[in-house]
Amino acid sequence: MPNAPDLEKLKSVLDGIATRYAGEAERGDVADYIPELADVSLNHFGIAVAPLQGAPLLAGDAEVAFSIQSISKVFGLTVALERVGATLWRRVGREPSGDPFNSIVQLESERGKPRNPFINPGAIVVADVILGNAKPGDPEEPVLDLCRYLAEDPSITVDEAVFQSEVATGHRNRALAYFMQAEGNLEGEVPEVVKSYFRQCSIAMSCRQLAMAGRFLAAGGQGAAADHAAVTPERARRINALMMTCGCYDASGEVAFRIGLPCKSGVGGGILAIAPGIAAIAAWCPGLDDKGNSRLALAAIEELSREMGWSVF
Ligand code: GLU
Repeated sequence: MPNAPDLEKLKSVLDGIATRYAGEAERGDVADYIPELADVSLNHFGIAVAPLQGAPLLAGDAEVAFSIQSISKVFGLTVALERVGATLWRRVGREPSGDPFNSIVQLESERGKPRNPFINPGAIVVADVILGNAKPGDPEEPVLDLCRYLAEDPSITVDEAVFQSEVATGHRNRALAYFMQAEGNLEGEVPEVVKSYFRQCSIAMSCRQLAMAGRFLAAGGQGAAADHAAVTPERARRINALMMTCGCYDASGEVAFRIGLPCKSGVGGGILAIAPGIAAIAAWCPGLDDKGNSRLALAAIEELSREMGWSVF
């Protein structure tokens, strides 16, 4: 794979995508099971690309903050691996689930061990590991702290209205957590663990901030993250592998087929994609397809990776 992208070509591809997608009629539907997300306008579209060096390139609403939701699972996983290393895998698997992200069925048949860290029960276990392995002096919200550090932007914050909305409606996540507690796979108290999970999901970032925060995964774990977290090249490779196989809900295979890059999406309509050795990409449009992935963000990343020749395959 080539390294430094042709910035002029990249800029023109991004501008072309943003202009066309601003007027696209088929935008999907906003997630409405978290009431606060249902109020976000479908008209937004933003995209940012952070090459390994230098400033990110932006187009459309790339500076508008949105709810990163499940994309936070990438940063949660990074913190948990930093804290407990490979022992994490005793409590959470590494296989695609083939079930919806909040399914309880698989948990029951597999005795409380979630298939992977990117479905809700997996991320709840990851939140439990982070809480249970805090050392004195650790930040109160380590996932938020990592996002700020990686994006080099201390202004990143939790959207309190989204957080309250999740607390008010997140019964299914509590059910998943209680089920895992019953199976002996949750050490903390459910309300505390779930609160920490909801807070990380409610982090708001713009495409620019998100692309910057994801850049360490394109850089083999090096760069800013190397000073903060123990992100070795091997660990970055493995996080990327999980994004490729499990990052886009029950459409992860289809996304690998269409785009060929590790991606993680969230119900807020954001997608983080990694072109290893080249750049991190963040795209956002709140309208989702029937699998819960942003329709236009996915299409935009597909177009970008094709135009730039960035597939890992
Ligand atoms: N906070 C959301 C939930 O737990 C995250 C969903 C997502 O983005 O996949 O339901």
